[in-house]
Amino acid sequence: MTNDTPYLFYQSRNPRPFLDHGEGIYLFDESGKRYIDGSSGAMVSNIGHSNPRVLAKMKAQMDKATFGYRLHFRTHPSEDLAAKTVAMCPKGLDRVFFVSGGSEAVESAVKLARQYALATGQGGRYKVISRFPSYHGCTFGALDLTGYEPLRAPFAPMMEGMPKITAPTTYLDRDNLTEDERGIRYAELLRERIEEAGPDTVLAFLMEPVGGASTGALVAPDSYYQRTREICDEYGVLLIYDEVMTGAGRTGTFLAAEHWGITPDIVALSKGFGAGYAPLGAIVASSRLVEPVLDAGGFQHGFTYAGNPLACAAGLAVLEELEDQNIIENAALMGALLKRRLEDLMAHFPFIGDVRGKGLLLAFELVADRGTMRPLAKELNAYTRLVEIAYDLGLIIYSRRTRGGLEGDHFLICPPLIITEPQI
Ligand code: PLP
Repeated sequence: MTNDTPYLFYQSRNPRPFLDHGEGIYLFDESGKRYIDGSSGAMVSNIGHSNPRVLAKMKAQMDKATFGYRLHFRTHPSEDLAAKTVAMCPKGLDRVFFVSGGSEAVESAVKLARQYALATGQGGRYKVISRFPSYHGCTFGALDLTGYEPLRAPFAPMMEGMPKITAPTTYLDRDNLTEDERGIRYAELLRERIEEAGPDTVLAFLMEPVGGASTGALVAPDSYYQRTREICDEYGVLLIYDEVMTGAGRTGTFLAAEHWGITPDIVALSKGFGAGYAPLGAIVASSRLVEPVLDAGGFQHGFTYAGNPLACAAGLAVLEELEDQNIIENAALMGALLKRRLEDLMAHFPFIGDVRGKGLLLAFELVADRGTMRPLAKELNAYTRLVEIAYDLGLIIYSRRTRGGLEGDHFLICPPLIITEPQI
């Protein structure tokens, strides 16, 4: 183990070993120890490490040009990646704008929504409703939309405080409703919040279709997805899906939205989209939104590195691999298997309170009492201790302590989508 360098600092003191190399679902440190990358880093390495096709395509692009500013040149990698992204997204999502990460994608989605409103005579709309808990990024705009108190607290006085509704944490509910009825009940919170905020001031509703780091792979009842879409349509509120974690095949379809046949107005992508080969993200939207903005003078927004040819060459090769190697189908199959195996563990370990997720975005939650879902005492630090035990054994998992209004320890199990049955 190495300690901090005197120069570089991380979020906290970092006693981790130096990484040497990656191969498929594995990472190796400098001592030669092998780790199963059971969380794909931070749910990033969807096609695994050191994919030869992606590396070859990146090297070929490096030999030509690694950077060309997008306002000076068009590039084939960026235009080809945009075309491929549109081809893999549901119909109606037909325009792409590149960024370099998830927070940038979320902020770009919100800014496109706002400029669409301005361009179409709806300048009074500016509020973006999001959920608690949720995670949408750490830059100020994205953080204001994030429902995760430990990250928000230091900056609370510096943010607007956009409206939130409770995320559908139905696994904690002990009522007599059916799942469908619960889904509707949580979705109707959106209507209430729109009415309260003033319908003419509400620009968009932002949600992770399957919750990520903040909720531990929270999946809503089917009715929730349909009803929230209907409510947005009814009030002229744009529906933004943050698919930064769920996109690029993670849940067993290219976008998680496909599971429910929903077409959001704007989708944010990153993480698995560049799959760890390059910092890359995108928003995908309908021409219906983009054209009025371009007609009104253009999208007043953009990041220097966005759409650079090297990152786009990597992203294009990632999408080609997803398709040619049937990796998304594998995520669905292996996800179902892994979920069953985790559910089997519940029979042996009464302190596993819940197993949830979709595809290979899976999680389990530890509780003191499964009947009441009472969480473990905070002082136990279960969420860090279990991660450390697994790490020592050569398995990387990802944890957080939080859930809707209560405290809970959940663990994300999200290996690369290329994982095989014996590896599971
Ligand atoms: N949105 C979601 C759903 C995420 O999970 C994350 C990162 O974890 C982000 C946005 C922010 O992405 P980034 O860390 O690349 O800025």
